[in-house]
Amino acid sequence: MSKRDYYEVLGVSKNATEEEIKKAYRKLARKYHPDINKEPDAEAKFKEINEAYEVLSDKEKRARYDQFGHADPGAGFGGGGTGFGGAGDFDGFGGFGDIFDMFFGGGRPRGPRKGADLQYNLQIEFEEAAKGVEKEIEIPRTEECPTCHGSGAKPGTHPETCSVCRGTGTQEQVINTPLGRMVNRRTCQVCGGDGQIIKNPCTQCRGSGTIRVRKRINVKIPAGVDTGNRIRISGAGEPGDKGAPPGDLYVVIYVREHKFFERDGDDIFCRVPISFVQAALGDEIEVETLDGKVKLRIPEGTQTGTSFRLRGKGMPRLNSSYRGDQHVRVIVVTPTNLTERQRELLRQLGEELGVRPHEQQRSFFEKVKDAAKDALNWD
Ligand SMILES: [Zn+2]
Ligand SMILES: [Zn+2]
Repeated sequence: MSKRDYYEVLGVSKNATEEEIKKAYRKLARKYHPDINKEPDAEAKFKEINEAYEVLSDKEKRARYDQFGHADPGAGFGGGGTGFGGAGDFDGFGGFGDIFDMFFGGGRPRGPRKGADLQYNLQIEFEEAAKGVEKEIEIPRTEECPTCHGSGAKPGTHPETCSVCRGTGTQEQVINTPLGRMVNRRTCQVCGGDGQIIKNPCTQCRGSGTIRVRKRINVKIPAGVDTGNRIRISGAGEPGDKGAPPGDLYVVIYVREHKFFERDGDDIFCRVPISFVQAALGDEIEVETLDGKVKLRIPEGTQTGTSFRLRGKGMPRLNSSYRGDQHVRVIVVTPTNLTERQRELLRQLGEELGVRPHEQQRSFFEKVKDAAKDALNWD
């Protein structure tokens, strides 16, 4: 089961002031303190209240929670922000409302219902993940019908109070049992629990009071995000029942692969080809980084596969000033398509390095490796 929303835990609105949060916390903490409250779940409640207050009372933590929800990959209170586990909490655009309907057999839970959460899968480029980016996304969601302003009735007409339940939305049935009279409450079958009946439905929404729209939303994506991170946009989900808050929108990030860089956490990796002459004599080469090209010195006698570290040229860590490293692995390239003159020079080099004539059928690469081994007295 997913964690309860911290605002919900404290019973405050999303834009509650620091003072309101403090007040709500004090009241609840007093009520559920294990020394005072002897109910079996008081301790768990008290813990939950404290956790919520710890986050919402801290400006920075609260801002991060507003953005990422419980899935904040950069904070300790998250439910595991990386990987795809978290994304499974939501079932496309269905949302939690449907779960309620299942439990209540089509009826409604008491009180107005919070809007359903929405999920949007967003692909971004590797560089965008490194630098941070702002994206405009379009999400299909439900909004109040602009023609009838949500009433569902044709403009100029009004919904009428249901005569069966007299506007309460519930029907009471009194049953006499051996144990006494029992009152059975159920959703009004005539108005479906709305308490109202629309005789002249609005033509735009056909009486539902809502329409489907494609809503444009700007999403700020912080530098350092990785595939599987979720960004929460508070209140951007489906609208709630009248008087209830809307749901939230979760943007799930997918970072596209890069043609040159590979990422592992905060570090990035790349391969750079160099000639065997550069490897043998040493050179200064230019290497692509996330900040443009930088110079890298290749020392004399560098072997293929050697890795060099460019400190602080990796990925930025989410919500931190720390940056990982870039690891540059050099690959020594064996020359091909040689001219006769080049072959002759290499033969001479081979002789100079002590490669014997009967070994000349083997690839040049092997010989250079052997020469290197001889020089270093390997084996
Ligand atoms: Zn309408
Ligand atoms: Zn009714």
